Amino acid sequence: MAENAAAAEAAPKPAVRYKTEDDVRKLLAGDNFKKFCKKKCGECHAPAFKKFLKVSPLVVRAQVGSFWCASCGRLLCDAHRNQHTCEVEDAELERRRRMNVDDIRADIKRREDEKAEADAKAAAVKRAADEKKFAIVSAWKQRRKHVAGVSTSIANMCQRWAVQADPGRAQDELLELYTSCNRINLRLWNEVQEPTIQLDIDHEAWDKLCRNYDRAKELTGLVIVVEGTPLDMHLPWLPRPPPEAEGGAPDLDA
Ligand SMILES: [Zn+2]
Ligand SMILES: [Zn+2]
Repeated sequence: MAENAAAAEAAPKPAVRYKTEDDVRKLLAGDNFKKFCKKKCGECHAPAFKKFLKVSPLVVRAQVGSFWCASCGRLLCDAHRNQHTCEVEDAELERRRRMNVDDIRADIKRREDEKAEADAKAAAVKRAADEKKFAIVSAWKQRRKHVAGVSTSIANMCQRWAVQADPGRAQDELLELYTSCNRINLRLWNEVQEPTIQLDIDHEAWDKLCRNYDRAKELTGLVIVVEGTPLDMHLPWLPRPPPEAEGGAPDLDA
């Protein structure tokens, strides 16, 4: 407290403010001029205008702008005319700075919002694409399961037909067909678990399976029956050929 009191005593009186140029000019008129020349700088409080004692008041009147700050109204020495702490100019600078900062913030915010929106859109597009891709991948997995399941039925039936056949060439061939179908069956189930062909079935294996089954039917005169109907070798995702073409290749001799 004591220190503050001492500081307050030592502090110079606040500088007088002259609102208008006319207020300053009045200081320069007549008897006032000598008093004016003793005035102190509004910033450093040192005598500022002694030099004017030797100058005509008329000349000094023409130079008001060189020792008076129109913004804060203070009289200033040569050193401080352009370097004083002008709260009015500072406030204006601060106002402009703040305005700029606010503008920059608003701009950054706007850009962030736009980026967030663009990111969300891109993520939605990617998600849709991923879902579509996943749907396609999982559809093909189902199709590979379908052909693997059919190959299991055929391999099992070929084994049964081979075991039931009378010993001879037909049985030998049925055993060979069973061995081949069994290998195909393993291969097709491997394609379900760890596909080497992502978006299709193993057509080579499937075609061989179809030929094996056709041959087994020829040898036995039998077919596999599923739920009361002969096993359908048509791949359900492909268009079914018109009935007249179902007999296979056209008869070239006809
Ligand atoms: Zn000064
Ligand atoms: Zn000022």
